[in-house]
Amino acid sequence: MTDQLIFWGTRGSIPRSEPEFSHYGGATSCVQVGPLLLDAGTGIVGAGDAMLAAGQREFHVLLSHVHFDHVMGLPFFQPLWRADCVVHFYLGNLAGESGQPMLQDLMRVPFFPVDPSYFRAQWQMHLFQAGECLQIADRQVETLALTHPQGATGYRIRDAEVCYITDIEPDEAMGQRLVEFIRGSRAMIYDCTFGEDDFEPDHGHSTWQQCLAFCQAAEVACPVIFHHHPRACDQTMKNIERQALAMNPSTRVARDRMVLQLEDLGRRV
Ligand SMILES: [Zn+2]
Ligand SMILES: [Zn+2]
Repeated sequence: MTDQLIFWGTRGSIPRSEPEFSHYGGATSCVQVGPLLLDAGTGIVGAGDAMLAAGQREFHVLLSHVHFDHVMGLPFFQPLWRADCVVHFYLGNLAGESGQPMLQDLMRVPFFPVDPSYFRAQWQMHLFQAGECLQIADRQVETLALTHPQGATGYRIRDAEVCYITDIEPDEAMGQRLVEFIRGSRAMIYDCTFGEDDFEPDHGHSTWQQCLAFCQAAEVACPVIFHHHPRACDQTMKNIERQALAMNPSTRVARDRMVLQLEDLGRRV
């Protein structure tokens, strides 16, 4: 497995471009796992440009859900505006509803000057029920419904054995399902909006301590702290990183443009 993990956007809720956020980064959720892109936050803009420059013309974008921070970059994803590109989107049912109409509202006039019928690429929306196993670009991808307002979908990319779990506020039953879903994987990229000291219930998010605890329970080699609080500046993030590394030295704190080689992450089982 020679795939890389590339973090194009790691911030939760809203982009931050001020200098005090520049080390960890302020683009919102987008992670590349080999040929797949997870989420279409503002990070997807840089991802699209880099993949086009590398000659890629077919794209697979797996969406966790359609809250703004996860789709905000989509209208500016350059491959959609090129006639020589093909773009596949994947979207799970969200709290029992199809997310497609919500996604189309994102580019509805007058919120955006043109609607998706103006895209020049061939593009297709693949809808599924969270829990289904998908076959995408020769990869097997497992899916899990997450507890989050309006729902969200977690992914496990087989072979790479990378799990992408955001956004989520787990209760006990969700925690048990999650541990089974991620068991034995290489890395879990996880919603760490909060820490135990500033946790706000009913906001639909989780803590970095829960990330480490789930990874330990499920023997996941590498916990990846992700979806950083929009007010967590570099100093705050450095403190979190120091504490998390003291608890589990394999932990990584995601930064925009961070690249991880899968073979370096190891696997416990
Ligand atoms: Zn989010
Ligand atoms: Zn959300």
